[in-house]
Amino acid sequence: MNYSRQREEVMDQLKLHHDHPTADIIFAELRERDPNISLATVYRNLKLLSEHGAIKKLTFVSGADHFDPNTELHYHFVCNECGRVFDVPMKVAEHLDQDAEAFVPGEVTGHELVFYGVCDECARKS
Ligand SMILES: [Zn+2]
Ligand SMILES: [Zn+2]
Repeated sequence: MNYSRQREEVMDQLKLHHDHPTADIIFAELRERDPNISLATVYRNLKLLSEHGAIKKLTFVSGADHFDPNTELHYHFVCNECGRVFDVPMKVAEHLDQDAEAFVPGEVTGHELVFYGVCDECARKS
């Protein structure tokens, strides 16, 4: 399989997700179809895609990198127990950028917002 075909495969696989998977998860899924694919290849392609802005690498999660096929500005909810990252499809507060500009020594070009808590599944377990 050539490089660009693999990149497409990685991209397509990530697009099936709404749960912000890690490279390990994408790798496990792709390997079912293509036993020759390596974790290094998957990771390299995810990194490249995020560097080109085709996908987003979530910078606020600790541990392994999580990737998001949705590059539009949207908010996230992280479960402190299981570490899963959920989308929060609430309205984006565009005024925050202008509000912040009064306090920063420069121009604000965007923001990220992350909510933390415990997801329903984890709350049921405890
Ligand atoms: Zn949880
Ligand atoms: Zn997201």
